[in-house]
Amino acid sequence: MTHEEGFQRNADSVASHRCEVIEHRWVNDRYKYLRLRAPSALGSVTRAGQFYQLRCPISDDMQPFLLRPMSVYGMGPAPDELEFLYNVTGLGTRAVSVLPVGASMDIVGPLGNTFRLEESFKRILVVARGVGLATMAPLVQKAAAHQIAITAVMSAREPKDLMRDEFLRGVAADVHCVYDSDGTSGVEAVEALIRKELAARHHDAVYTCGSHRLLMLLQRILADHPELIGQVAMEQRMACGMGVCLSCVRLFDTAGGDKQFLRVCREGPVFSIRDVVGEVEFG
Ligand SMILES: Cc1cc2nc3c(=O)[nH]c(=O)nc-3n(C[C@H](O)[C@H](O)[C@H](O)COP(=O)(O)OP(=O)(O)OC[C@H]3O[C@@H](n4cnc5c(N)ncnc54)[C@H](O)[C@@H]3O)c2cc1C
Repeated sequence: MTHEEGFQRNADSVASHRCEVIEHRWVNDRYKYLRLRAPSALGSVTRAGQFYQLRCPISDDMQPFLLRPMSVYGMGPAPDELEFLYNVTGLGTRAVSVLPVGASMDIVGPLGNTFRLEESFKRILVVARGVGLATMAPLVQKAAAHQIAITAVMSAREPKDLMRDEFLRGVAADVHCVYDSDGTSGVEAVEALIRKELAARHHDAVYTCGSHRLLMLLQRILADHPELIGQVAMEQRMACGMGVCLSCVRLFDTAGGDKQFLRVCREGPVFSIRDVVGEVEFG
């Protein structure tokens, strides 16, 4: 399926939905878990890797004009429920963070494409850091549902930031945790770890989200593993979220050897790791 066909299929199901906050709580000192009840069975049309644009409420007499993109962290437990896991960082997410249970929230979506995960896969490798955990959590659930084994490399500043249970949500995986605080999350150490894992066991695909440094590392490793599928969910700043404003374009390599700008919101957010152009030189 081409990017355009994928978007068209997705566009048919995009709409604005008035939801009700049914659960909202801190999971650590920076992240909040938000569960919404939608007016229809949104969970059944939302795929791993897709995102919604959240309309943030008025806070301190101001309402953020732009909607905020947020990956779906979970579809369920009921078909009309959606879950988000978000970092409270700026004006918009701070405003969302004080929404009480019972409040209304408007969301637009589902937006974007989904991860490629084939039922024939035997084992996948997921490499996650920060908000990447939220984006890849539904992928982990889907892999487990298809009896696909999971190797996970989870990276965080320090153990209290890791959110291992929030990521796996009960799924069994071979997990390697690496931290900035003890130096194990450095590029060289993670590269050695991943190369060892790939040499020791067959993997069909590798996925990442949440760190440009890890993305570039995986691109380098994939050059030595042509048999592996590699995908990244990009988290570019975006405004409209629908492909109109072009604020989220990134440069990618094409099969023909040229480079092209693609919109993370429309052609993505999931792309081939191999196609990402890391450094852009103008001149
Ligand atoms: C596809 C996608 C999925 C994401 N999923 C998650 C997730 O699951 N969990 C999570 O914690 N975070 C996620 N993020 C990041 C999240 O969207 C930001 O943290 C959030 O928008 C911050 O909003 P804020 O108002 O709190 O911060 P602020 O920094 O105050 O505002 C950021 C917002 O300002 C706007 N903006 C600012 N500068 C620009 C610019 N140059 N061009 C265009 N727009 C601009 C955008 O709307 C942007 O989202 C995701 C981002 C993307 C793109």
